[in-house]
Amino acid sequence: MTRSHPTIDRSADLMERAAQVTPGGVNSPVRAFRAVGGTPRFIREAKGPWLTDVDGNRYVDLIASWGPMILGHAHPDVMAAVQDAATRGFSFGTPSENEVALAAEIVSRVDPVEQVRLVSSGTEATMSAVRLARGFTGRSTVVKFAGCYHGHVDALLAHAGSGVATFALPDSAGVPASAAGETIVLPYNDVDALEAAFAEHGDEIACLITEASPGNMGVVPPAPGFTEAMRRVTAEHGALLVSDEVMTGFRCSRSGWYGLEGPYDGGAPDLFTFGKVMGGGFPAAAFGGRADIMGHLAPLGPVYQAGTLSGNPIATAAGLATLQGCTSEVYTRLEEVSRTIAEAASSALDVQGVPHVVQWAGSMFSIFFVSEGSRGAETGVVRNYDDARAQDLPAFAAFFHSMLESGVHLPPSAFESWFVGASHDDAAVEVVLDALPDAARAAS
Ligand code: PLP
Repeated sequence: MTRSHPTIDRSADLMERAAQVTPGGVNSPVRAFRAVGGTPRFIREAKGPWLTDVDGNRYVDLIASWGPMILGHAHPDVMAAVQDAATRGFSFGTPSENEVALAAEIVSRVDPVEQVRLVSSGTEATMSAVRLARGFTGRSTVVKFAGCYHGHVDALLAHAGSGVATFALPDSAGVPASAAGETIVLPYNDVDALEAAFAEHGDEIACLITEASPGNMGVVPPAPGFTEAMRRVTAEHGALLVSDEVMTGFRCSRSGWYGLEGPYDGGAPDLFTFGKVMGGGFPAAAFGGRADIMGHLAPLGPVYQAGTLSGNPIATAAGLATLQGCTSEVYTRLEEVSRTIAEAASSALDVQGVPHVVQWAGSMFSIFFVSEGSRGAETGVVRNYDDARAQDLPAFAAFFHSMLESGVHLPPSAFESWFVGASHDDAAVEVVLDALPDAARAAS
């Protein structure tokens, strides 16, 4: 295939200017292309499955804003809802009707969620859920898994200490050892480690927080029975189970991961967090769960939580229109497109003899460029963060840049899900399929 070698002069100029006024030139680190090298594309506009950069290059979008754009960009119904809301004002600081409608929509979809509180980001949702769990139980320790990302909350930016069930170390400068020191980090999909941690510290643990099906170390679904084990162990020790569905919520199914895997033997998680899809591209997120727990929040109870822009009328309008647009046909299309792309990518990599593993959570999927001889390569399964880290990152970078040059924008990191939208039509899929053989060759 002939390469056009698109010009990216304007993106390069903008990156230079951006780096002068913004650290690393970006407002969220992964956008800087540090993991893959090269110049990030500055996007001027997006429509359906397409991104257009400031130099006029078009890309099929497989990032979907890291999840939210499930219907595609600038969907007419979402656009109309946003325009209509905007004509009536931008933010009131009083209750408004769409907040009720969006909360009711979420409650109606995820059975165990009786009440939600709306916030503006996934980070706020997990931070508030953890505070609520601590306030409800009167305990302070939090358990999380290595490789699960829950936003940039101090207590959740922690990596494992030296033993299996020891307290964690800060994952970022600026996180006090005291904040990380009340977090225990465990390997994912490891029931023995889970049981050992609770046996030793069970009566100090306020909650176990987990991605419902992790997508932030690449897609690593819970092994059969693992979610039930989390439910059983937390219940035995009086700790809450918090299921973080910021990424999976309303994407894996109309009721998120819970809709695919739940209800669980032993009961549902106590609290859930949501974000991304429920804002339709605007800043809206939520945490929710059992009413007796949610009743501990201000103004009813002693756990304080608030937000100037929480339940913003434009964000709630966008979120509501997006959720209402997520019909069963949408989920069928997402699965179809994801399967087509993942199977073609896997075949192209097979042809070039590039070791890889494909994993799924609903229509979310990842291709791990597992290193030869690693456990993932040997077993064909990536079970946890250690497995996910044993990847050939230069091979991924070569694959990524080849795809980009052929007009396909993948997430610029080997530790991410690829996201499609319902607007990915056959023409967009064709561009992806055409790009794969060259990219697989580049990775070999
Ligand atoms: N939880 C999960 C599972 C996420 O994937 C993310 C973001 O990627 C967050 C929480 C944080 O959300 P936000 O970036 O909106 O703060």
